[in-house]
Amino acid sequence: MSAPAQQPLHRLPLDTLRGVGAKNRERLENLGIHSVQDLLFHLPLRYQDRSRVCPMGELRHGDHVLVEGEVTLSEIRHGRRRALMVQLSDPSGAIYLRFFHFSKAQAQGLTRGTRLRCFGEARSGPHSLEMVHPEYHRIQPGDSAGLEETLTPVYPTTEGLNQITWRKLTGQALALMKASPETLQEWLPEAILGELQLPSLAQALEYLHRPPLDASLHRLTEGDDPARHRLVLEELVAHQLSLRRFRHRRQSVQAPACGPPGENRQRFLADLGFSLTGAQRRVVQEIADDLVQPRPMMRLLQGDVGSGKTVVAALAALQAVASDLQVALMAPTEILAEQHLNSFRNWFERHGIHTVWLSGSQRSRARREAIAALTEGRAAVAVGTHALFQGDVTFQRLGLVIIDEQHRFGVHQRMALREKGALDGRVPHQLIMTATPIPRTLAMSAYADLDLSEIDEMPPGRTPVTTAAVPDTRREEVMQRVRAACREGRQAYWVCTLIEESEALQCQAAEDTAAQLAEQLPDLRIGLVHGRMKPAEKEAVMARFKAGELEMLVATTVIEVGVDAPNASLMIIENPERLGLSQLHQLRGRVGRGAVESHCLLMYHPPLTQNARSRIDTLRRTDNGFAIARKDLELRGAGEVLGTRQTGEMQFRLADLLRDQPLIAQAQQIADRILQQAPEAADPLIQRWIGEKTQYIDA
Ligand code: ADP
Ligand code: MG
Repeated sequence: MSAPAQQPLHRLPLDTLRGVGAKNRERLENLGIHSVQDLLFHLPLRYQDRSRVCPMGELRHGDHVLVEGEVTLSEIRHGRRRALMVQLSDPSGAIYLRFFHFSKAQAQGLTRGTRLRCFGEARSGPHSLEMVHPEYHRIQPGDSAGLEETLTPVYPTTEGLNQITWRKLTGQALALMKASPETLQEWLPEAILGELQLPSLAQALEYLHRPPLDASLHRLTEGDDPARHRLVLEELVAHQLSLRRFRHRRQSVQAPACGPPGENRQRFLADLGFSLTGAQRRVVQEIADDLVQPRPMMRLLQGDVGSGKTVVAALAALQAVASDLQVALMAPTEILAEQHLNSFRNWFERHGIHTVWLSGSQRSRARREAIAALTEGRAAVAVGTHALFQGDVTFQRLGLVIIDEQHRFGVHQRMALREKGALDGRVPHQLIMTATPIPRTLAMSAYADLDLSEIDEMPPGRTPVTTAAVPDTRREEVMQRVRAACREGRQAYWVCTLIEESEALQCQAAEDTAAQLAEQLPDLRIGLVHGRMKPAEKEAVMARFKAGELEMLVATTVIEVGVDAPNASLMIIENPERLGLSQLHQLRGRVGRGAVESHCLLMYHPPLTQNARSRIDTLRRTDNGFAIARKDLELRGAGEVLGTRQTGEMQFRLADLLRDQPLIAQAQQIADRILQQAPEAADPLIQRWIGEKTQYIDA
């Protein structure tokens, strides 16, 4: 290395490396690699052992190995596909090399007697083991040059960047790092690394890019070695530090403090008609304790479908209203919002609490009136969709914002809501509810800005739902079964799903299905709800279904959340393979709310992919939302389940929240120690791993 590299590696541009021109720079940048440091954080996917030559007699199908021998036969075969076949022999045996693409010169260079060293995968061929398009070069007898002294890394890559280029680039980056260690600063305190017996940053990078030959290939590929743990831990620590900083800022923000729950709560509970479960009582207390603080509550309430989150939200609202503050409750769909509106009015009107409705599809006059009531402070509670937070809506003294179904809103939106509510410099408390419960450690990292409450107990009186899967070739049989059940006085949902995001197409599909079912089952009274109907229409249909005037309700997935008809005990879901596990679980939660035994029939379209089969099997086997969410995470990954993949939030470079869960608690402890013992490391660590992404948190 000639050029002195005093520049820190995170500022060192890629084109200081040999082999990086405009083209390659662009390719690297598309992978998110902008500096030499980024290159070092781009870790291999897997490794190969090219350190020793394997005798051909010992080869097994599937081995990725280096072999060496003499060409004993070379010919062009004209079978189904023209191929150059080269037989390579060593004293222990022989294999074939098969080339489908080859030049004349290449064929001529591989004559009998040529010595070759090849790397490739041995696969069973018609006569013996073969390597298809191996990497190879010619050697002289006794030549040991080119044998690798470390395991060979294989990098995740993109079109136009081959493995040889990757090895050259990472080789240069490692050399720079070693020549000038100060260019890649170690920020984890030595004491901590020593205690945990973890390698330094430089050691870990060297190890992962060029593992010694005695490293365990298995542990490396599984991501289960101290070097990788070391890096992941540092990334998780950086996230924890940025979270601490964010929380610290939150502490300095004012919120209107509520009074403790009073005698109105006793009256509310007495009127309720049921008593709270232990879990509900616990979370209600946690929320009440937050609300009396002059700092904004930011709390995530997790609980399975049907665990009774609504009444918990109502109790929080009651506490705020009793302190003369206003409350906004927002849900992601109109149907869900309407359901809340009904519950709240039902519970609150008799206590003299006025609740208004705000939605996108509302007439402008009704909307104006609702807004006036909020602005003038005549209405204490507003329930609605996103429309609640449009520019023209103002509150007189908003003190609490409740959001249902958190996973559809991101950190950004949460921040926007807080801004909305600013009340002479104070911001409202926030309660966020989700029915996609995820493991606690994961939640604490993913929703890092939130405190967590969990309802882990179901209200009494729910009956388990039996779930079965049938192929749609048996549709006729399914229809007859539904008809028989309905004739016995039961009620059924028939849910239509569609891949397309288009709501219009979904609604069309539901309309077609409803028409078709009505024709084929003329003796059943069938209703239809979908997202494009006017709220009043939907409401009328739902009311008839609840009253038992309709036996079957055809619906789109809009009924996923919110619809509550305790007598419905049968659900047919068409093409369940199109939906995610958590969504299916939510849908199914619409039945099993009454005393009769309920059934859910998943009518799939064969053949199922392995992943779809796995989802359907999980659903058949378990009814527990936490278990289902865990499986969903396994199948789809954290980004999808948390709905953060699209928004680009919570993207980790190396950490996999699921696989690395055990490290999260450790990262929290280390972050605490850094703040106490080496606070100057916090900024650079956040900068290194999160960089610009932290800015939105400050917004
Ligand atoms: P989710 O958590 O899915 O939002 P809901 O709040 O809609 O659940 O509650 C589901 C049903 O259970 C509602 O009909 C609600 O009134 C009822 N419920 C809630 N808590 C209890 C309880 N402690 N005992 C009996 N029923 C309850
Ligand atoms: Mg709910």
